[in-house]
Amino acid sequence: MSADAVVVGSGPNGLVAAVTLARAGRKVLLLEAAGRFGGGLRSGELTLPGRVHDLGATVMAMALASPAFRELGLKGVEFAHPAVPVAHPLDDRPAALVHRDPGRTAEGLGRDAGAWLATAGAAARAGFPLVELLLKPLGPWDVPVRTFAQAARFGVAGALPATTLARRAFRTVEGRALIAGMAAHSVLDLRSPITAGYGLLLATLAHLVGWPLVRGGSQVLADALVAELRSLGGEAVAGHRVRRLAELSAPTIVLDVTPRQLLAMADLPAGYRRRLERFRYGPGVFKLDWALDGPVPWRDPAVAGAGTVHLGGTLEEIALSEAEMAAGRHSPRPYVLLVQPYAADPARGGHTLWAYCHVPSGSTVDMTDAIETQIERYAPGFRDRVLARHAMGPADLEAANPNLVGGDIGGGMASLVQFLRRPVWSPAPWRTPLPGVFLCSSSTPPGAGVHGVGGWQAARLALRPDGPEPSKP
Ligand SMILES: Cc1cc2nc3c(=O)[nH]c(=O)nc-3n(C[C@H](O)[C@H](O)[C@H](O)COP(=O)(O)OP(=O)(O)OC[C@H]3O[C@@H](n4cnc5c(N)ncnc54)[C@H](O)[C@@H]3O)c2cc1C
Repeated sequence: MSADAVVVGSGPNGLVAAVTLARAGRKVLLLEAAGRFGGGLRSGELTLPGRVHDLGATVMAMALASPAFRELGLKGVEFAHPAVPVAHPLDDRPAALVHRDPGRTAEGLGRDAGAWLATAGAAARAGFPLVELLLKPLGPWDVPVRTFAQAARFGVAGALPATTLARRAFRTVEGRALIAGMAAHSVLDLRSPITAGYGLLLATLAHLVGWPLVRGGSQVLADALVAELRSLGGEAVAGHRVRRLAELSAPTIVLDVTPRQLLAMADLPAGYRRRLERFRYGPGVFKLDWALDGPVPWRDPAVAGAGTVHLGGTLEEIALSEAEMAAGRHSPRPYVLLVQPYAADPARGGHTLWAYCHVPSGSTVDMTDAIETQIERYAPGFRDRVLARHAMGPADLEAANPNLVGGDIGGGMASLVQFLRRPVWSPAPWRTPLPGVFLCSSSTPPGAGVHGVGGWQAARLALRPDGPEPSKP
């Protein structure tokens, strides 16, 4: 097929770019290195036959809130909501819970009710326009003027380190722990600026759209986008790794890859090459998937209804574990992010579960025991429920998806500097200096997560009247 546009990589950003271009009438060829499409949306049988595990993302809060996915419309994809979006078990007291309703969440936080309503609650009240500003910090925006004031208020709290926000605004163990567990998704030392912002954004999404799962596994979402591309006349080829840009010939090339891969693929102007070489990857993760013979036996039964569970205890404990990881050490009591899909979606062939902890980039340390010990701490007898387990360290993750450099699942560190310079400082960082070549991965704004905004922005630039012409028949 002679294509107007080649998209390299079929993660959510690549898929959204491909469909956006195809909907605008471009002939699109999508090339994916792996045997299956989807990147971070892939699912597979990692443990026992018939058990569906998500290799990467499960929680689709960003997809539901994303202006890019809203514009595309998701046909044939059903979202399943757990009774409780997030639970945070604690040793000597009931778990802290984030409900869909900010008021109900606040009620459970006692003296911190007001603090919760003034932060995550206020952002949730500001609604989709605020989320649109946060997910599209460089525009284009179609939001009421008051949203900019709301964003400024969000920015004042969000710019803080999570430890500062938690200690200044919250007084209870539960409130502080919730902020830490949410903010630790950033894979940063919680004493770093803007970690509060990541935590508040995720809490806001829990109230605004929930933290749902795709019924049947995240692969269903990837397959729906590939089917949409094909229905528009596009071609999608799996098992084709692009090594050099010179292999491709099309007026538009959109790359769902990270800066390190782009550097290896293309002869770039020296200045841009130097800027990409400054891009920093974050720590990695060590991930476990389990097949269980029943639900996790949580000591606090309220945790059973949660889709996502944050383990690691108090603010102080989680901050210490993340500080150790950021300093290149392995925490013996790591912060563990756990997802129990069966709480919302029984269509996965039985009780499947996954969890990961953060580890230094490229770590080869087996964290199985440390992770399972943290689960046993809040769910004694958990190990007796395990029928089979599957472990992936940073090298395994990178072998499965070259974008996960050193096990970094965020496409590059989410620090303040790289929030502003992702991967380069530019009003249109999706554009490269090579004519018609765009970058769309999570190494571009707004960063990690299944939102497709990087792909949508890159496609939008390619479709501008001053962008590359479609090929002539
Ligand atoms: C374990 C894990 C859990 C996660 N959990 C969540 C979650 O619950 N919610 C959430 O929102 N996000 C989650 N994420 C993050 C989310 O998956 C990513 O941010 C998102 O997938 C990034 O999308 P992307 O399109 O930029 O790249 P990716 O999804 O990484 O896809 C890139 C694709 O490009 C392909 N590729 C790369 N180089 C080439 C090449 N040279 N030729 C051809 N193909 C190539 C890769 O094989 C891959 O398929 C998780 C990630 C991981 C790994």
